[in-house]
Amino acid sequence: MKILIKSDFDRGDDWRKAFADRAPEMTLIDWPYQGDPAAIDYAAVWKMPHGELARFDNLKAIFSLGAGIDHLANDLSRPPQVPVVRLVEPGLTAGMTEFAVMSVLQHHRFMLAYREFRRQRQWRDILQVAPKDRRVGVMGLGILGGDAIDKLRPFGFDLAGWTASPKKMTGVRCYHGDAQLPDFLKATDILLCLLPLTPATRQILNKETFALLPPGAAVINLARGEHLNEKDLLAALDSGHLSGAILDVFEQEPLPGDSPLWDHPKVSITPHIASMLMVDTTTDFIVENIRRFESGGALDPVVDFSRGY
Ligand code: NAP
Repeated sequence: MKILIKSDFDRGDDWRKAFADRAPEMTLIDWPYQGDPAAIDYAAVWKMPHGELARFDNLKAIFSLGAGIDHLANDLSRPPQVPVVRLVEPGLTAGMTEFAVMSVLQHHRFMLAYREFRRQRQWRDILQVAPKDRRVGVMGLGILGGDAIDKLRPFGFDLAGWTASPKKMTGVRCYHGDAQLPDFLKATDILLCLLPLTPATRQILNKETFALLPPGAAVINLARGEHLNEKDLLAALDSGHLSGAILDVFEQEPLPGDSPLWDHPKVSITPHIASMLMVDTTTDFIVENIRRFESGGALDPVVDFSRGY
């Protein structure tokens, strides 16, 4: 059985070892591949150039080598009959939860403001806020948002979540759908975006959204750069309405050198590193899925392109 692989980093030897240890019956083929396209059974890819997947006539499934599937949704030549499996693996989830919790705590404890005070050599303090008085709102309670909110719970924050469909979670105020978005935003001091990128969520962090947040609210975007209107964010920060933003993803990546975000005192920037897949646990996930599928079971989770995630 042949699996075509295109990963984000050059970790070819790690992938080969992980597959050889677990599934000697599966042979990894590196992309770019000049051999017979009909010989490839599965593809495991991240940001494949558009048009490439259409060459492989016998694909049984495509695995996204990342939680997001926007890189595949945007490839209009992708064979539509081939199921796409979204990556759900504990290493990626744990990495995102670490980053999400760290970012919420940074806003909660005013670390962006203290970074600026330090730069100005000012010895200043800000009155601490009790976690029960800090409303943390998570947009998207899927694999990543759901785990992040679980791990935020022990701190004692006032937690809320916003989803597409109705949800119940112990100790979390749950909102869903466009109609409940304003109420969710009005009661959120720290807004964490962990939504998938779909036509409904593109540019969802914009001037209307920010205006609904209480004065002094802070934003964290760890999902996709296209969720955020960067100009609207800068305006809301400069007007003083928002107190800060922690951003891991950007409209254009790499973030251009002349972006005003780089030097903004109320913005924290990381280069899309909030979470990275782990080779071992990702290989477990792919091997389990393929073995189950080959013996008549189902792939899981398969992307529903009609809803966009
Ligand atoms: P997921 O399991 O598919 O969960 C998506 C969540 O978003 C669900 O709760 C869903 O609601 C909600 N949602 C979708 N469309 C919505 C809408 N229009 N309105 C309100 N809620 C909506 O996704 P995930 O695995 O948690 O991943 C989330 C995103 O994180 C990925 O798509 C990717 O963009 C990003 N990511 C970033 C990095 C990084 O390093 N920065 C790494 C990995 C992933 P329902 O529960 O009702 O379906």
